[in-house]
Amino acid sequence: MKYLLLSALAVLTVSCNSAQNASKNSSIKNLTRIDYAQTITAQDLSTHLYKFADDAMQGRMTGSEGQKMAAEYLKDFYLAEGISAPLGDGDYYQEIPADYFRRMRKAQDSENVVAFIKGSEKPEEVIVLSAHYDHVGTDDDGNVYNGADDDGSGTVAMLEIAQAFQKAVNNGHGPKRSILFLHVTGEEIGLYGSKFYTENPIFPLENTVCNLNTDMIGRIDPNKAENPNYVYLIGSDRLSQELHDVSEAVNNEYINLELDYTFNAEDDPNRFYYRSDHYNFAKNNIPIIFYFNGVHEDYHKPTDTPDKIEYDLLAKRTQLIFQTTWEIANREGRITADKL
Ligand SMILES: [Zn+2]
Repeated sequence: MKYLLLSALAVLTVSCNSAQNASKNSSIKNLTRIDYAQTITAQDLSTHLYKFADDAMQGRMTGSEGQKMAAEYLKDFYLAEGISAPLGDGDYYQEIPADYFRRMRKAQDSENVVAFIKGSEKPEEVIVLSAHYDHVGTDDDGNVYNGADDDGSGTVAMLEIAQAFQKAVNNGHGPKRSILFLHVTGEEIGLYGSKFYTENPIFPLENTVCNLNTDMIGRIDPNKAENPNYVYLIGSDRLSQELHDVSEAVNNEYINLELDYTFNAEDDPNRFYYRSDHYNFAKNNIPIIFYFNGVHEDYHKPTDTPDKIEYDLLAKRTQLIFQTTWEIANREGRITADKL
């Protein structure tokens, strides 16, 4: 009797477990792009940014010890998440020799940090997400320029986007096209890291579908204080109407931020279209979108610190970039530069 009871229990336990597994499997199968987007949280972005824009990083000046520490932070993240290195086993650094930084006195070697998620159906077609991780260092009085918004915000957004895509990969929902996460160095001294990448691309530029670049998305432009539910988009329609339309449609369906095109005007005196890393892709006729919050009183000051970041808004803007990338990576046809 005892023996029989045990077997009956054992059978019951086994069937319970397999029922649980089946329901766990089907709930994973039912996860959608919205679920993955929701893994991008204000809390996670904040946790990263307080470390990434800490005084310990010494303002992340290109070639400095602080920049090297920042590079290591990014590399360690990708390693821990199991996100691959496109340059070969464990090599997340695209090295740039010191003499490439021509405008810099006493330049030192620096590196772009790169990570890669390979597409399941069209792996040769690559979407490049970029954000610069360098900043302007420290001044003679020892003030640290933390660059929490510029561009710590874009940097941590990329980490969260990469993590969300890797979760999708782990559940069998990986993107059809490939995604390169390109953390560029040398931006503040002249867009060097992105220039170097486009002159020495890891994947051919003709297979580069588009570049979504993020530089400052954690703050609110004082002119937008009354309506902070916005992000400025620059360049989305310059080379590809299709990219612009996809971006608009994704926002309408999933996010509902106000997409403000003020700085996209051809005659805008700020000329932001030419002032961040996407421009090196655009000049190679690769469609781009530049995501930006506008300038503010702490721009390029030691007061650009993590406590001033609007984390809920940063999460929403990051989810917009995630959803736009998801759409471009998974839609039937490749985005083309239809305005050339
Ligand atoms: Zn910047």
